[in-house]
Amino acid sequence: MTTSAPTPNLETDVIIVGAGPVGLACAIEVGRTGKRCLVVDKGALVNSLTGYPTNMEFFSTPDLIEIGGYPLVSSRYKPIREEAIDYYRRVASKEKLRLLLYESVEDLSGEKENFTIKTSKRTISCKAVVIATGFFDQPNLLNIPGEDLPHVSHYFREAFTFTGRNVCIVGAKNSAALAALQCHRRGAHVTMIIRGEQVGPNVKYWIRPDLMNRIEEGSINALFNSTITHIRESEVDIQSPEGAKTLSCDVLLALTGYHPDYTLLKKLSVDIADDHAATPLYNEETFESSRPGVFLAGTVCGGRHTSRWFIENGRHHAKCIANALA
Ligand SMILES: Cc1cc2nc3c(=O)[nH]c(=O)nc-3n(C[C@H](O)[C@H](O)[C@H](O)COP(=O)(O)OP(=O)(O)OC[C@H]3O[C@@H](n4cnc5c(N)ncnc54)[C@H](O)[C@@H]3O)c2cc1C
Repeated sequence: MTTSAPTPNLETDVIIVGAGPVGLACAIEVGRTGKRCLVVDKGALVNSLTGYPTNMEFFSTPDLIEIGGYPLVSSRYKPIREEAIDYYRRVASKEKLRLLLYESVEDLSGEKENFTIKTSKRTISCKAVVIATGFFDQPNLLNIPGEDLPHVSHYFREAFTFTGRNVCIVGAKNSAALAALQCHRRGAHVTMIIRGEQVGPNVKYWIRPDLMNRIEEGSINALFNSTITHIRESEVDIQSPEGAKTLSCDVLLALTGYHPDYTLLKKLSVDIADDHAATPLYNEETFESSRPGVFLAGTVCGGRHTSRWFIENGRHHAKCIANALA
């Protein structure tokens, strides 16, 4: 006998694009107003969180990333990735959220009260749409030769396989700082290639001094005011204040940030501000975008300003949208 996941009933009032923490919060709050919701995600449940480093400790305490009023119980002061992922899974299950996973939303036609959404697998009708697509699946590329080589990644998962390897990390914000510390502590030889003259000033206050001390004692090498210009199989070329350099490099982590999927936003006819953050336009009370009936929620609202919204504050968009729809 074979078993397979049942397809949920597809009749719905609202489609929520993205099963991240904020998309799930929207499904819960909109659902509580009596509307039928369907959540569609191109990957796993809380897909972005599954891509965070193994055992990563959240910056927030548990109460600040809870949704739907369900307590997130953690054995620690701040939850780790695994606890958070399991928490959101249990909340989705408890709320009986209707989910279509591994199915990407590709297009939207029609208008408010009468939309047709096209996914990679089917078309579905709905009255309103909430876009909670985050940004984590669109890395900011270096756009240099060799970026597509297999030892280059824009994501850091864990450092155990890097023991004894020459690891170059491009970037100087939280992700790069955490990756550098973990790789160093697993026995890798770490060089950070940093465009500016210092480690990001907004790196969390308990991570930054740790990294600065490792740089000062020489156990992590940091090249400031430097840019990477070419990646080869086991070397990288750097332009630094002392001139051009070539470094040995077995693993290259380009942790230079992420941005929303603007191709998708444009396809969905959401207007984008003509500013440096390329912020999608939305009403700040209702979170309705420039396209009536289409709402924005969570980190996608910040455009390229990716530290503007996070789970702590983005989860509150859910109630605003639920009120607007009600
Ligand atoms: C390392 C790290 C640590 C962090 N720690 C914290 C913290 O401590 N506290 C905090 O508040 N925030 C933290 N954040 C930020 C937080 O994780 C994000 O703000 C959060 O994931 C945003 O939730 P979201 O639902 O808006 O977007 P996401 O969680 O990114 O969810 C978006 C979802 O949309 C899906 N999607 C995208 N395009 C499509 C499409 N076309 N069709 C269907 N689905 C699509 C994606 O697969 C994804 O599942 C951290 C971020 C990182 C990177």
